[in-house]
Amino acid sequence: MEQKTELRYQGVPAAPGIVMARAYRYLKHVPRIEEKKITPKEVDGEIERLKHAVGRAEKELQKVLLLAEQKIGVVKAKIFEAQIMILSDAVLFGAIINRIKKEHKNAEFIVHAEIAKYQQMMLASSDEYMRERSHDVEDVKNRIIRNIQEEKLVSRFEGNSIVVAQSLTPADTILFSRNEVLGYLTDMGGVTSHAALLARSLRVPAIVGLKDLTAKVETGDALILDGYAGVVVVHPTEETIRAFEQRKAEIAVYEKKLHALRDLPAETLDGKHVELSSNIEFSEEVEFVRSQGSHGVGLYRAEGMLMGRDTFPSEEEQFCEYNEIAEKAYPHKVIVRTFDIGGDKVFADVSEEENPFLGWRGIRVSLDRPESFLMQLRAILKASVKRNIWVMFPMVSSLKEVRRAKEFVAQAKASLKSEGVNFDKKIKVGVMIEVPAAAIIAGDIAKEVDFLSIGTNDLIQYLLAVDRGNELVSQLYQEFDPAVMRTIRHIIKEAHKHRIPVGMCGAMAGDPVATLLLLGLGLDEFSVIPTILPEIKKIIRSVNYKEAQKVALKAIAFSTADEVREFLTANTKRIAPEIHLKE
Ligand code: PEP
Ligand code: MG
Repeated sequence: MEQKTELRYQGVPAAPGIVMARAYRYLKHVPRIEEKKITPKEVDGEIERLKHAVGRAEKELQKVLLLAEQKIGVVKAKIFEAQIMILSDAVLFGAIINRIKKEHKNAEFIVHAEIAKYQQMMLASSDEYMRERSHDVEDVKNRIIRNIQEEKLVSRFEGNSIVVAQSLTPADTILFSRNEVLGYLTDMGGVTSHAALLARSLRVPAIVGLKDLTAKVETGDALILDGYAGVVVVHPTEETIRAFEQRKAEIAVYEKKLHALRDLPAETLDGKHVELSSNIEFSEEVEFVRSQGSHGVGLYRAEGMLMGRDTFPSEEEQFCEYNEIAEKAYPHKVIVRTFDIGGDKVFADVSEEENPFLGWRGIRVSLDRPESFLMQLRAILKASVKRNIWVMFPMVSSLKEVRRAKEFVAQAKASLKSEGVNFDKKIKVGVMIEVPAAAIIAGDIAKEVDFLSIGTNDLIQYLLAVDRGNELVSQLYQEFDPAVMRTIRHIIKEAHKHRIPVGMCGAMAGDPVATLLLLGLGLDEFSVIPTILPEIKKIIRSVNYKEAQKVALKAIAFSTADEVREFLTANTKRIAPEIHLKE
């Protein structure tokens, strides 16, 4: 057979892994909607058709919900409960039925017109969260219309394929997962889109944001999907296939080698022990975290629970989530961060601001919403009976906030005590140091809390005045900037002066080039994304603490970030030559 020209496309890596397989191009059923007049006699029959279709749509979604609960867990499956709720929206369906009666038009036309109104409003929003939600509404709309038109749902295909689609709804992703899906590629979507999050949970390699890949690929085309680099190769040549096979094998060997360290402690050659834990967003990640050899969870971003919903989870719901994580991680600890809403993590009812990163965010929102804050603290406390939960507050910028937040903890404890509910009376309370003001007064804060955790993602952006998500200034976002390093040294010193531990949960903790520096500065805990954990452990286990201290001392004396990076890279290569460092 003639070799077609090889083509390469770059997207956004959404879930890791390398696969080679045939494409299955999934073109969504786009319903054809014609406006038809019906006679007054036909009105009742049309309404019946609508009700029947809504009933079938609900049955389909119940099935998806059940499957989702098994595959990705109860909390994440809630996206589908929200879709089922749209189907029982009395106001919406009242309006649709009224229009059928008044206008004497076919049901699918009216359903399309009414639901599209909501969807347009959501799509026009400048808020990414709302725009993502509009896809859920569209999914419900198309589901009803497909059922009115009595079309079958296609979600099964011959196995062992890579699904290529314009976009995938959460329901598509779940339904496809019943087949042998080896990977997902989508034209649209960012790393935080639902399809990307679900692919990661399902551990299926995925790339999103591939623009118009569906126009370039047909079912049956040979593909290579590199979910580490975000690269897709269409019609790969023999040579490319060999190169990817080799890369895949190398990654497998490398991961296997690192995996051998899984049950060994994160300890330097001369016996200095540090905590090596993970950052997670969902309870389902805990098993994976443990399989990577983590000591626990150094940051649980509780906002994962708010995904796909527009109201706060109840105390009971939150308790179930925190409890599940605490039980799965036991005997290791879990640091639960109270909701960090605002900034780039927009929640439905937080309105838009001119400067969201300098606005109503993190602890500021919690302190302004005593009821929700208390509810969250009570849920966290209730889940703390095994004494492996710590709690911490994000975006703190003053001592007053720390004191007020602690008062809320005391209030939550008092209310539980009066109800006779058990909890950890000595629960450890900490603060994230991610605002320069908090870094400067780290000593004062340290006097009043049990631990500190450095959030470099925000600390760097606020310290250097560089928006963490702005491509235009990304060159200026430098973790090895002398100002950043000196601030980190100051925070660690202040914490130790007051005899409390200090960790880091920002991405810098998971950068292998930074490991020697942070270790040498005396950091007590590294909380990193689970996939990088073995590499960080390898570096820690390859050096003497004394030597790391020397490296840190020298690094901090340089006057530019470039010099520091070069110096640290050379030292890391010398100490742990098997580690792959990104150049
Ligand atoms: C940080 O700012 O470093 C951090 C860990 O928090 P987030 O990335 O969730 O803002
Ligand atoms: Mg932060």
